[in-house]
This record gives sequence, C-alpha cells and structure tokens, in this order.
Amino acid sequence: MSTKVVKFGGSSLADAQQFRKVIDIIRADETRRFVVPSAPGKRFAGDEKVTDMLYACHRQAQAGEDCTAALEKIRARYQEIIDELGLSTDLTGEFDTISQMLAKGANADYAASRGEYLNGIVLADALGYPFVDAAKLVKFQQNGNLDNQLTYNLIKNILGDMGRAVIPGFYGALPDGKVKTFSRGGSDISGSLVAWGVQADLYENWTDVSGVLMADPRIVKNAKKIDVITYMELRELSYMGATVLHEDAIFPVRMAGIPIHIKNTNRPQDVGTLIVAQTDDSDAAGHITGVAGRKGFSFINLEKDMMNSEIGFGYRVLGVLAKHGVSFEHLPTGIDTLTVVLESAYVQPLRHQLIEDLCAAVNPDSVAIEDGMALIATVGRGMVKNKGTAARIFEALTEAGINIRMIDQGSSEMNIIIGVEESDFENAIAAIYQKFA
Ligand code: ASP
Repeated sequence: MSTKVVKFGGSSLADAQQFRKVIDIIRADETRRFVVPSAPGKRFAGDEKVTDMLYACHRQAQAGEDCTAALEKIRARYQEIIDELGLSTDLTGEFDTISQMLAKGANADYAASRGEYLNGIVLADALGYPFVDAAKLVKFQQNGNLDNQLTYNLIKNILGDMGRAVIPGFYGALPDGKVKTFSRGGSDISGSLVAWGVQADLYENWTDVSGVLMADPRIVKNAKKIDVITYMELRELSYMGATVLHEDAIFPVRMAGIPIHIKNTNRPQDVGTLIVAQTDDSDAAGHITGVAGRKGFSFINLEKDMMNSEIGFGYRVLGVLAKHGVSFEHLPTGIDTLTVVLESAYVQPLRHQLIEDLCAAVNPDSVAIEDGMALIATVGRGMVKNKGTAARIFEALTEAGINIRMIDQGSSEMNIIIGVEESDFENAIAAIYQKFA
C-alpha cells in the first residue's frame, strides 16, 4: 500500500479556516498517512507567528518577568481553532506544564517547540489520528548534531507499526531528554525524516505558494514556476537564498530516493513543483532551472609574488580560517593572487585577527578585505555538456551594465556562480532571469 508523508507549514495551519483546508486535503487521499504540522503562522500581514510568541515568552521568563499574559494570548489562538472546529481538545494541562517548565528555566528550544507540539495535538484530534511526540522519534547527539541512524530506526519501528499518525515538526530530543529544535523552518526537515523512516513513496510539502519559482518574486515579477527540479539543483538554489524549503530538508529523502512535491494548501488544484533525483529531459539544454543569490559576502584578497610556486600557500591560508572556525564559500585564484570568498558575518568580529594571522602564516605582499559583495548562482542541469550558458549569463550582465567581480563554476557543471557588488544584486538577478526566461 502506498504511503505519503504530508507536511503543512505555518500559514497552512494559521487558523480554523486553514485547518479545514488541511483536513480536506488529507481526507481526499487515504495514502496521506503521516502528517507533520508546523506551528500556527501568520493569519494576516503584521500578525505574529506562534513560534515567535513562544520565543518572546521565553525571553520574558528568563528576565524573571511574569509571562502569564503572553502565554494566555497563545492559548487563545489554539482555543479559537479548537472552538471553531467544534473539537473537545482540552489544552489546560499542557499550558500548566509549559508555564511550570518556563518558570523552572526551560530552554528556548523547549519553549519554541511547543508551537508544533500543541498544533500536533489539535490536528490529531481533528483528524482522529494518533499523536506521536517528535521527542520520541527525532534524536540528537549531545553535541547537537542529528543522530540520523537512531532517528531512522525509531521512526521505522514506531511509526512502521502504525497506519497513521500526526508527528509535530521542528524538534526532537537530546540524549538527556531535553528538547532541541532545528533551525527556523525546520519542520521541513522533520517531514523529510519521517518520509525516510516510513519509506514513503512521496513527501508532500504543503505551503502557501504553488511551487518553486525560477527567481525570487520580490526581484522578478511573475517569475515562472519550476515544474520539475532535481535535489541537487534545489539544494544549490536553497543554499543561495530560495526559501521554499529548508536547505537541510533534502538529505533524508534524497538518501532514499523519495520525491518531494511542493504544493499549495490554498490552491490544491495547482500542479506544484516535483523534486526528484534525476530527470531524463533532454530538452533541458539551453534552459536554466533557476537563479538565486545572497548578499552579505566579503572577499579577502591576498597577493604575493611567486605565490604560484610556493607549496602550501593555500593550505596555510585555509589553516588560519579553520583555526578561527570560519567556513569559506569560494577560493578563486590567479597566478600570484588568491581570493577567499566568505560570509561577512564571519569576518566582522575577527577582521584584525584574521589579517594578522594571515600575515603571519603566508607573509603576503598585500592583504585586503572587501565587503559588500553578493553571490548569484545560476543553476541548471541543462548546462552540463552544453555550450553557451556562461556566455549568455555574461552577455546579460554586460547588457545590464553590471561589473562581474568573481566567477566560479563547480565541477558538477550544474551551477555558475558570479560575485557582484551588493548594489548590483537585484539588477543582476533580473538580467540573468530575463535572458533565459
Ligand atoms: N515554527 C517554526 C518556525 O517558525 C518551524 C517551522 O515552521 O518549520 O520556524
């Protein structure tokens, strides 16, 4: 019998009206057996997400303030859903526990996770499905890394015996039992883990857009939707700023070859975007799948005569970064020059120390840090072994009068990265999109 895991984002479960849509979607297909909800999101522009309200409660509790009123506001959001759906769910005991835990100094992860936990209880009641606390299934190691194998085994063994269940997203537990969350938007990862563990045929990720767009709609109006994209392409686009799916949500399903289907709760009839391991579309040549990027990068430019023949130069530069726990993005080189591209957030607090240590390590003729850079990735499986993609990207940027500050192409040939100044960022994305759209 086939099995789908369905994850619903916060806007899909923001109020009773949205809950009704979700219930209809689940009931319309009996293979939608395992349901992973987020916490209630914004109901309208300017509204608050329950997760943010919980973080605020936690801050109040930490400051020794009384957060009863703030918790009451959260309780009212759930109660409204319960009442409007005509359910008899009673969350009194749960809120008493949360309030006691906060008073006893529970951590921020515990507080934030209650959004999903409570939503899971309400949704399970509404569907008549059993509720399984994610703390029993999703396990982290003491160092905070996900324990993949244990999580897989628990999901497989516990959920495998159950025909259906609701499992809250976003959190799991550390070996000492304390709650730990993923980073924001992490319910996508929970859904992916559940799909992997139950060996689902499909992971449906229900949100408030009808799929992944070729470019950020805030930059490119009416950007086209992508019908089919590979995991690798989506990983590249998400890493570079496309926000439909959490970037870490791809790994679990990818290992198992389970496709992800992005769907719109508000327009279930739309086809959405299908994310797959591989496609056999030979017509991908000449097309790109998408273009995405991020601001906030810095270049460390190093120059030294005869650098090309100095064995270990790059090794020593990277050693300095490693010593400071700094991750780098790209490393373009010339004959006697080397540039390290990295996030400015890493550079800011360490600026002087980095320069000092680099000087000590490689004794360069010059070293300078340039901020205010943006990186843009043009991604497309169609560019492998096909001519002309780079030429068209550069043509688009030249026509738009944009100066390219860095170029990098991965050996997978699925991605061409260019660096531009932040002030050129939006125009560059729009120009590349228009060239290929
Ligand atoms: N509720 C959490 C957040 O707002 C997790 C999620 O929605 O995936 O980030």
